[in-house]
Amino acid sequence: MKPANAVLSSYGTTIFEVMSQLAQKHDAINLGQGFPDGNGPEDVVRVAAEYLETGVNQYPSMWGMPALRQAVAAHNARFYGLDVDWQSEVMVTSGGTEALASSLFGLIEPGDEVVLIEPLYDSYLPIVRRAGGVPRLVRMTPPDWALPRDALAAAFSPATKLILLNSPMNPCSRVFDADELGFIAALLEEYDAYAVCDEVYEHLLFDGRRHVPLMTLPGMRERAVRIGSAGKTFSLTGWKVGYITAAPELLSPIAKAHQFITFTTPPNLQAAVAYGLAKDDLYFKGLADELQSKRDRMTKGLRDIGFAVLDCAGTYFITTDFRPLGFNGEDVDFCRHITTEARVAAVPVSAFYQGGDQGDKVRHFARFSFCKDDATLDEALGRLARHFGGCQVPGGP
Ligand code: PMP
Ligand code: GLN
Repeated sequence: MKPANAVLSSYGTTIFEVMSQLAQKHDAINLGQGFPDGNGPEDVVRVAAEYLETGVNQYPSMWGMPALRQAVAAHNARFYGLDVDWQSEVMVTSGGTEALASSLFGLIEPGDEVVLIEPLYDSYLPIVRRAGGVPRLVRMTPPDWALPRDALAAAFSPATKLILLNSPMNPCSRVFDADELGFIAALLEEYDAYAVCDEVYEHLLFDGRRHVPLMTLPGMRERAVRIGSAGKTFSLTGWKVGYITAAPELLSPIAKAHQFITFTTPPNLQAAVAYGLAKDDLYFKGLADELQSKRDRMTKGLRDIGFAVLDCAGTYFITTDFRPLGFNGEDVDFCRHITTEARVAAVPVSAFYQGGDQGDKVRHFARFSFCKDDATLDEALGRLARHFGGCQVPGGP
C-alpha cells in the first residue's frame, strides 16, 4: 500500500477524543474535552427544531443564509463597533474548526511562514503544515503564561504570511490585553502580514473583562480575520456553526477553500444561530456570569484538595499544577491516573505544545473544563477529594 499523507499521518488521535473515550470506558466525569452540560438555550434549540419542520432544508448559499450573515454583521456592530458589510465580509462555516482550516488553506502559499503561539489548539499546526506553511512557534509557559515579546518579534520575518492568534486562549485562559494586541498589530504592519484570530471564546470573559478583537485596532480592519463559534456562544458545541468576518480581499480566497471543504452548513442551525445572536445583553452577560461562578467553584474546590490553581480570565478551562498533591509523574500519566482511579477526566497541558521538547516547564499541569452543572462539578471535586484524601468540598458527598 502506498503511504497516505505524511503530515496528517504523523499525528495520533487528538487528545480530546482520547480522554473522552477513556472517560467513557471508566465511567468518569469528563472534565477533559470542553463541552457544557445541558442542551443549550431552550429558545435557540426550539428555533432550530421548528425550522427543520417548516423551513427549507436544501443547500443554503455557500456564504451562509442571509439572516445569519446579517446577524453576524449586527453582532460585530453591537459588541465591537465594527462596521461590517454582511454580503462581502461575512461567511458562515461548519464550526470554528472549519473556519480556521478554510482561512489557513485559503491564505497560505507553500513556503509562507506562520507565527503560532504555544500552547495551541490541536488543529492549528497540522492544518498549517498541510497547507505548506512553515510554522514559527513562540512559547508561553505556565504559571504566568507571559507573552515573550522578544521571541515573538524574532519569529516575524519578511516571509511571514500570518499569525494565528487565539484570545481568550485555550487552554491557558489568557486574554491578551490592549498593549499586547497593539504590539502584535505593530508587527503585522511592519511585516505586512495578516492575523487569523480565533475568537470562539469572545463571550466567555470574567471579572468584568471585555473582549477586544484585534480587528478593532488601528490598521487591523484589513489584516484580521475574525472567527466566532455558536458552539461556545450558545453552549451548543455539537452544532458546529462558525462565522468569519474579514475584509473582502481576505474573505474571498478563504471562501475558495470553504467551497471545496464543506460548502455549507445545516440551514436550521443557521436560522437558530441568527436568532440567538440577536438575544438581549442579559443573555450574553448571564453566560459569562454563570461560567465565572463555576470557575470560582472549581478554583476553590481544587485548591482545597491541594492543587495549585492558575489564574483564569476566560474560556471553559482552568489549569492546575498537580505537584503539590505529591504526584511525581508527568501530566499524561496524571490525567490517565485520575480518569481511571478517581473517575474524573482532565487533559494534559503538554498536549497543547506540539513543537517538540516541552522540557520540564509544562509537564505537570492538567486542564479541567468547568462548563458543567454545579452538581457535576461538586461530584467531580468530591471524587478527587476522596482520592487524594483532601478536605471535603462544600456540596460534595
Ligand atoms: N478554537 C479553539 C481555541 C477551541 O477551543 C475550539 C473548541 N472546540 C475551536 C476553535 C473550535 O470550535 P468549533 O467547535 O466551533 O469548531
Ligand atoms: N475545544 C474543545 C477543548 O479544547 C475540544 C474540541 C474538540 O474536541 N475537537 O476541549
